[in-house]
Amino acid sequence: MPWFPEEWIDEVISRNDIVDVVSEYVTLKPSGRGYFGLCPFHNEKTASFHVSSERQLYHCFGCGEGGNVVSFIMAIERMEFVEAMKYLAERAGIPLPDTSDQVLYQQKKDKKQLIIEINRECAKYYHQMLMKPEGKEALDYLFSRGLNNNIIRIFGLGYAPNSWASARDYLNRQGYTDQQLIEAGIVVQNPENGRIYDRFRNRIMFPIINTRGMVVGFGGRVMDDSLPKYLNSSDSPAFNKSVNLFGLNLAAKARPLEYLIIAEGYMDVITLHQYGFPQAVASLGTSLTSEQAKLMRRYASEIYVAYDGDEAGQKATMRAIDIIKEAGCKARVIQFPNNLDPDEVLKQYGPEYFRELLVKSLSMLDFKLSVLRRKYDLNTTEGKVGFATDAARVLAEVDNHIERDACIRQLESLLGIRSRAIYDQIAKIEAQGKLQKKIPRNRTGNNRYNKNITNPVILKPAYIRAEADLVNLMVQGSSIAEKIIDMLGSLTLQEPLYQKVVNIVKSLLDRKTEVNEALVLSYLEDRNEIKKLVEIFEQKLEYDNIDTYLTDCLNQVEMGILTKKRQEIKNEINTMDREGISDPVRYKSLLKEMEELNHRLSAYKSERRESRE
Ligand SMILES: [Zn+2]
Repeated sequence: MPWFPEEWIDEVISRNDIVDVVSEYVTLKPSGRGYFGLCPFHNEKTASFHVSSERQLYHCFGCGEGGNVVSFIMAIERMEFVEAMKYLAERAGIPLPDTSDQVLYQQKKDKKQLIIEINRECAKYYHQMLMKPEGKEALDYLFSRGLNNNIIRIFGLGYAPNSWASARDYLNRQGYTDQQLIEAGIVVQNPENGRIYDRFRNRIMFPIINTRGMVVGFGGRVMDDSLPKYLNSSDSPAFNKSVNLFGLNLAAKARPLEYLIIAEGYMDVITLHQYGFPQAVASLGTSLTSEQAKLMRRYASEIYVAYDGDEAGQKATMRAIDIIKEAGCKARVIQFPNNLDPDEVLKQYGPEYFRELLVKSLSMLDFKLSVLRRKYDLNTTEGKVGFATDAARVLAEVDNHIERDACIRQLESLLGIRSRAIYDQIAKIEAQGKLQKKIPRNRTGNNRYNKNITNPVILKPAYIRAEADLVNLMVQGSSIAEKIIDMLGSLTLQEPLYQKVVNIVKSLLDRKTEVNEALVLSYLEDRNEIKKLVEIFEQKLEYDNIDTYLTDCLNQVEMGILTKKRQEIKNEINTMDREGISDPVRYKSLLKEMEELNHRLSAYKSERRESRE
């Protein structure tokens, strides 16, 4: 097998969204926190094939097939691992790491890591400056905007002093060269006179942190009316404005999320978090991109758009909801009174009122119709006809016919136009559209992979279930993985496949790679093993307190190990009895060990009873 750098595999997997890839073969319909479709691996009439965008996994409840994006391609295209990786790399436009590229790849990776290191160092510097006398004005400004110390610390806000070389001097002293600082975008070089100066001066600094906790760039905001109001880091090997979101690192920690809120400004996001809405994120000084919408889809299937109430904000909302729908999420629009923005609404009316606005938010359809309606004078026949014609165009895009019908009934009574006329208009638009639509590739009904339809539920011993739960939790992120690995210490899980996962997770942590389900699976080649794990990953665990839950699982695991040990000793004693082997020393020591094990086991059991009471 050719060598693929682990980071390359990681990149290929993260750039091939499973929902997109599967959609090329299966028609998927959103359902709850994921998507359902007809399984391409066995014949079925009701959809039992589930794709989770959050976990980047698929799993068929009918035939048990399951895995990540790589195993999907392996199964459906009948490719080997290497072939499937190459296919997906090409699909995402990622060059193959062949021997000559490998050096280049390493250089690129080193550069990216260096930039992230510089950014982290710089973020620390800006934060320190905010807390020093030089930063007093900036800190006062943040306080005046209603932020508290805690939220300032959580977001790592900082201050770039009003000087041409303060960050540069500081980072030079830390050993970074000007050339490196230019590449990181911390300093800028004037092409005419070669002068090098700090990019951010006299600005409040917002570090932009990705979901892996890396500072990839900065946003800087002025404290007065000077322009530009916001200045962002330029794109670099570490930073791409169109694929990152401000605040997502914190929102991701609040998983599982029912929804995300997309706001326009960094201040909106921070205020929302402070008032108890950790679901808030913002795009980075550009309008929402489809990459960002797909990124959000990994965390929630419903997105609330909370843009400013002014006209520019409403226009941006119109664009955003289309992009969100295109990405396969449900969009809702929060409407703010008096052209206010979320930041102002929270401060003037409080979080309860904001929650009401969430409840009263408009569906995509209602929002579009309400915007259209404002364009026409509905007191005139001309206005009514114009509005109805435009409305039909919007309604033609609505897949849900119940929603569409309800809407048409409303229009009928509002405009006094017969619903028949609106239906006819929609049919006309649909007929035009159908001619232009291309026929999607669909390969359902393939029965070649239909090996084991039956999926019997076997009651497993408690310790095996506990081991499975630990494995399920372990793959959900690095911080929980570290905790569990720590707790396990030198214990070896009894189920060899689970222990394999423990080893994979350990090596990911050693390399400081963020742990996730899809990535863990990419280190396994046996399709049956992948299937078994996906079944475990699909289980939603319920618990009140994670620490108590982990301790409980660990106790079960240890009890399992002790029980197994006791059984082994019992067997040996029985053999000695049965075959009349006379070895009093051995026999005595076995009995003693047995007694000790019994003692420890009953101690565990009573401990568990107590903890439950
Ligand atoms: Zn199936």
